[in-house]
Amino acid sequence: ESFDDMGLRDELLRGIYAYGFEKPSAIQQRGIVPMVKGRDMLAQSQSGTGKTGCFVIGMLQNVDTSVRKVQGLILAPTRELAQQIQKVALALGDYMGVKVHACIGGTRVVDDLRTLEQDTPHVIVGTPGRVYDMIQRRALDTTTIKCFVMDEADEMLSRGFKEQIYMVFQYMPANCQVALFSATIPAEIVEMAEKFLRDPARILV
Ligand code: AMP
Repeated sequence: ESFDDMGLRDELLRGIYAYGFEKPSAIQQRGIVPMVKGRDMLAQSQSGTGKTGCFVIGMLQNVDTSVRKVQGLILAPTRELAQQIQKVALALGDYMGVKVHACIGGTRVVDDLRTLEQDTPHVIVGTPGRVYDMIQRRALDTTTIKCFVMDEADEMLSRGFKEQIYMVFQYMPANCQVALFSATIPAEIVEMAEKFLRDPARILV
């Protein structure tokens, strides 16, 4: 199967090919279409499998860039990973005109506040602490989020973000799609999956 057969929008396909992806990786073959359909997802995948492309493409297909509201939220365990995901989303979504903001520690809170209030992004990629901070300050309106992705969930738990992730999850709208990506599935991830996911597509790569 190719990216052409996935029913993706032309602008998104252009971004995918311009970025240099020619053929979907295994996780992309199995994960993009269920994500586009709005299925919740539990994916066990290591980095190097193309998991970023999977959830970014799946999310971007359902982002309406003519609407200036936050529609997608991606949580990652580190600032560096969040910035890396932001770059991928900006590149793949280049022809859609998608705005992607990184909400991460180590940057000025006032800059985040200004961006969120005056230059609303379509997608936010962030670390759990700063994202929850922005929600509490009412700078990040979560009511329009349609897709919530947790990347490297096991790593986020081992960095002590469990409580913040659960807090962020409480702010997701009832009908929001939730996707959980994790390299390993220990008991705490099973517990999260049971609490957060409804009839998820399960993918092991
Ligand atoms: P990830 O597992 O998301 O960290 O991706 C691992 C590497 O594979 C990154 O350098 C990606 O740019 C690359 N990659 C992901 N998907 C594809 C694809 N379909 N074709 C070629 N390279 C890819």
